[in-house]
Amino acid sequence: MHEAVVVGAGPNGLAAGIELARAGVGVLVLEARDRIGGGARSEEVTEPGFVHDICAAIHPMGVVSPFFRSVPLERYGLEWVRPELSLAHPFDDGTAAVLQPSLEETARGLGDDARAYHRLMGPFVDRSDDLLAGILRPIRLPRHPLLMARFGLTAIRSAESVLRSRFEGRHARALFAGCAAHSFIPLDFAASASFGVALMLAAHAADWPAARGGSQAIVDAMAAYLTELGGEIRTGCPARSMADIPPSRAVLFDLTPRQVLDIAGTELPARYRRRLQRFRYGPGAFKIDWSLDGPIPWASEACRQAGTVHVGGSWEEVAEAEKEAWDGGHPERPFVLVAQQSIFDPGRAPDGRHTGWAYCHVPHGSDLDMTPAVEAQVERFAPGFRDLIRARHTRTAAGLEAYNANMIGGDIGGGANTLWQFLARPAPRLDPYSTPNRRLFLCSSSTPPGGGVHGMCGQLAARSALRRAFDGRS
Ligand SMILES: Cc1cc2nc3c(=O)[nH]c(=O)nc-3n(C[C@H](O)[C@H](O)[C@H](O)COP(=O)(O)OP(=O)(O)OC[C@H]3O[C@@H](n4cnc5c(N)ncnc54)[C@H](O)[C@@H]3O)c2cc1C
Repeated sequence: MHEAVVVGAGPNGLAAGIELARAGVGVLVLEARDRIGGGARSEEVTEPGFVHDICAAIHPMGVVSPFFRSVPLERYGLEWVRPELSLAHPFDDGTAAVLQPSLEETARGLGDDARAYHRLMGPFVDRSDDLLAGILRPIRLPRHPLLMARFGLTAIRSAESVLRSRFEGRHARALFAGCAAHSFIPLDFAASASFGVALMLAAHAADWPAARGGSQAIVDAMAAYLTELGGEIRTGCPARSMADIPPSRAVLFDLTPRQVLDIAGTELPARYRRRLQRFRYGPGAFKIDWSLDGPIPWASEACRQAGTVHVGGSWEEVAEAEKEAWDGGHPERPFVLVAQQSIFDPGRAPDGRHTGWAYCHVPHGSDLDMTPAVEAQVERFAPGFRDLIRARHTRTAAGLEAYNANMIGGDIGGGANTLWQFLARPAPRLDPYSTPNRRLFLCSSSTPPGGGVHGMCGQLAARSALRRAFDGRS
């Protein structure tokens, strides 16, 4: 008998397994698909020799994650690779706003907003380790209350109110809007600013890197370490009901509330079930990968050096596109997140060739092929881009859910990042990882701190399980 079973071998499931195994608990991880990794898999989906990140590509939160920093993943082949510039946000006149590790240089590039940017980010950058550790855990009982309160006063506001009140120029405003739009919520919603500040802070703390060879390297390293600790991983084992899960003292679900209800609803009291039923999912993503005959020919030199490019024009355009997707429409000019890993990790493509990665936000459950709109947006800022496309691979929001059951309606964040779910996901509970059933826990990105490849949900859920089901073993 395994002492603990983790259902789902995404980054959080593997993190939970590692944390339990490090405490001496015998762990079994069950994965539905034939490969581990969830939202961190890489595959040659366009042509042989072109390695694409199917989901997550860029890891600002991974590289600063206290969990990742506590595990020896480099020993198992993980290497972070950094682009020349973290992020560029191009405009129609060929200029671009740029985010880079240096706070001073980023500020200087924002012209008249240099001082305002410094005033906004400076106090956070000075304490970035403490602040990021605070952000990457449940908000209650912060270790550095004054610092978190200062962050919270900005984070809880809408991105629109922050960028309007802090900045005058279009460069700074668009740069902030693009980072805030990672929240998948409209930019006039409360708490959308939190993503802007947190992602910019991560760039100044440690850049926005990728994993050499593909995001798969992260989960492969986690699986190797877990196996060395004595854990067992079984692929091709979907859990459809509790009968598919071997007996154990604890079960940790790397799944979202809807799936937990399907599998274990009868083991949970009605009141908690109702809370999980009220859990809200967000808009979906439309994903596209390209194999290319050359690097993307951005008009702006900065964009050619950036690992990530936010394609969407002015902050007003970004805000409009995000609002439309949230309201159930397909923007004609979507906000597109582009990553160009092969320019700083050349092993991703054959000599002289390149990979391109992009997604845009679409309504929940959308099955619309957004290829023409996405490619038109990239072409707008990189004339000649379409001529370089050798092959493409796409997934609609509905296709993402078919690929990974956790991406309900194509929601890649494990649930909507509304203010309520920012404060209390997946349900209001002092310990958000636990359930009223002392054996059952949630460890996916539907728990704090939410989406992203950082393993923190898994680690914190495992600690909850150690406290509740293993008498505080550590
Ligand atoms: C297009 C896209 C782009 C993204 N970009 C980034 C990025 O650049 N950076 C970043 O940090 N994050 C990014 N993300 C988000 C990131 O991938 C997720 O936040 C992260 O993978 C969540 O990890 P998880 O372990 O909670 O869930 P998942 O990674 O979804 O893992 C869940 C696992 O459970 C398995 N499973 C599901 N149901 C069952 C079942 N019934 N039985 C057994 N197993 C089951 C699934 O197959 C999967 O392997 C992106 C996601 C997508 C889709």
